[in-house]
Amino acid sequence: MDRSSLLVFKSEIRSLVNSSIDNKCSLCIRCILRFCNVKQVFTNCTTDQMVADLSSFLDVIAQNINLIRNVFCNTCLDTLNDTFLEQICKQIECDLSEKSYLPLEDFQLQIHLPAVLTLRNSFFAKRLGLDKDETLSIKEVFKSLLASKLFKTINAKHKNDSNFIIELNFVHKKGEKECEQLVEISPETFYQKKCRKSTVESFINHTSIQRMLDQLNSSKMEQVTLDDIKESCTLPEIVYKFEPIYIGGRYMKYSRILSQTPWIFNGMSSVQERIYSGIEKYIKCNDIKFCSSGREDVDVRMLGNGRPFLLELLNPHIGNEVDLIHKISTYINETHQDVQVRDLQFVDKIDAQNFVKESEIDKAKTYQAICCLNRPMKDEDITILQSIKNLEIIQKTPIRVLHRRTLSDRSRTIYYLNGKRISINEIPEEHHNSIDNIFMLTLCVQAGTYIKEFVHSDFGRTKPNLCTLLPNCEADIIALDVMEVKFDWPPVLNK
Ligand SMILES: [Zn+2]
Repeated sequence: MDRSSLLVFKSEIRSLVNSSIDNKCSLCIRCILRFCNVKQVFTNCTTDQMVADLSSFLDVIAQNINLIRNVFCNTCLDTLNDTFLEQICKQIECDLSEKSYLPLEDFQLQIHLPAVLTLRNSFFAKRLGLDKDETLSIKEVFKSLLASKLFKTINAKHKNDSNFIIELNFVHKKGEKECEQLVEISPETFYQKKCRKSTVESFINHTSIQRMLDQLNSSKMEQVTLDDIKESCTLPEIVYKFEPIYIGGRYMKYSRILSQTPWIFNGMSSVQERIYSGIEKYIKCNDIKFCSSGREDVDVRMLGNGRPFLLELLNPHIGNEVDLIHKISTYINETHQDVQVRDLQFVDKIDAQNFVKESEIDKAKTYQAICCLNRPMKDEDITILQSIKNLEIIQKTPIRVLHRRTLSDRSRTIYYLNGKRISINEIPEEHHNSIDNIFMLTLCVQAGTYIKEFVHSDFGRTKPNLCTLLPNCEADIIALDVMEVKFDWPPVLNK
C-alpha cells in the first residue's frame, strides 16, 4: 500500500488526532486510522513511518505527534503495535520450523482477542462521538497486519479456506476484571441473558460485552471507568492444526477370517487396520475415523467392486508428496493380499457428510452363496430359482442375532435368484464328496435381508426359504460373498 495515499485522509485524521488528544484518549496511529474508517491497513509501513508522514501536515500540533508516537494505546492495548506483532511472527516462525511444517503454501488465522478490547473500542468510539459500526475492528486490522508480516517471514499466504490453521488465543487478566464492572453497572442486562452459565467469567465474551454496551444508557455509560492498563495481551499458546481431510474409496475383502473393524479380544488385524496402514505410511495425523456403507460378517468376503467407505483424517499433515492417493492405494494393495482398495480419492467435507448420512441407510445388495442340499441338485431346481422374481419373505429376527436385536417379523424382497452348478475346485475340500449336492446361488435382495437364514430357514423362522422353494430338500450354506453393494459412491475412477 502506498504511504502517500495516507495523505488523502488528512482532514479526517487531523480532526481525530485533535479530538483524541482533547479527550485524553491516547490512541495509537493504527487506531486513529481505524476510527477514521481508513480501509487500507497500510501493512507495508511501520507505525513510526506513518507518524513521520503525518507530522508534516499535522505540524500545528507538532508537540502532539510525540503523544501519538510514544503512546501506549488505550484502545487496542498495543495489540496493533509493530513490536508486538513482530514478536508473534517470530514465535510462529520458530514453532513452524521446529514442527517441520515449513515450507508452507498457505495458512488461515483464527484470532481470539480478549473481550476487554471490545469494551475499550466501544468506549472510546463513544467518547469520540463515532459510530463504531463505521470503523474498522481491531481484529480486522490485526489480522491483515499479522498476515502480511507472516508472508514476509515464512513466505506463505493467508487464505481463508487454507487447510492449515494458526490459532491465537489472547488473554488479558486485568482486562477481564475491567469487563466485570459491566455486570455490576447493569445487572439486569447480564442476568436476563445469563442462561445456564454460572460464573461471571464464563459470561464475559465479545458478544455479551457488546450487547451490554449497546444497551447502556448514557448515564450508565458514564459509570464505566477504565483502569490505567499498561500491559498488552498475553498469548499463552499458539495452536497449529490442519483441517480434517476426507478420503473415499471402496474395499474388497478376500478373507473369511478377517473382521471389518478391530476386535479387541482376538488380536487379529482388520480391514480397517489394513487400510490405515497405507494412510499412516504417507500422512501424519492425530487420528483416523472409518465409516462404511454397512459391513459384512467376518466369514463373508466382499468381492466385485467392493464396499464404499470414508476416512476422516484428523489434524493431517500432508507433506509435498505428489501423486499421494495413488501411492497410498498402491501401498495397501501391494502390502496386503486379503484387502484391496479401489477408487481412492479425496472428497470434500459436504460430500463426506452426505456419505455418513447415506451410509446409515442399508443398501440393496447382490450376494453369491455356495449352498448344499441334502439331495443331488437337479436341472429343474435351477429352472425354479430362475423363475423367482420379487419374492416377498418374512424373517423373524435370526437366532444368531437375538441377543442384540429385539424379536420381530420383518418383510423383505428377494428381487431375483439364480442357480448354477460349480466345479469341484471352487469348493472347500471337506465338501468334495457332496459335489453333486452343491451349487452357487446368486441373490439380489432388498437391504437388510438375512441371507444365511433365507438359505437354511433358521428353524422355519424365515418363510418362504430355499428349502420350501425347492422340492423335497433341506439346504445349508457353505460360504457367502457380497458381490455388490448398490451404492454409487465415490465415483468409479478409470484406471
Ligand atoms: Zn491502538
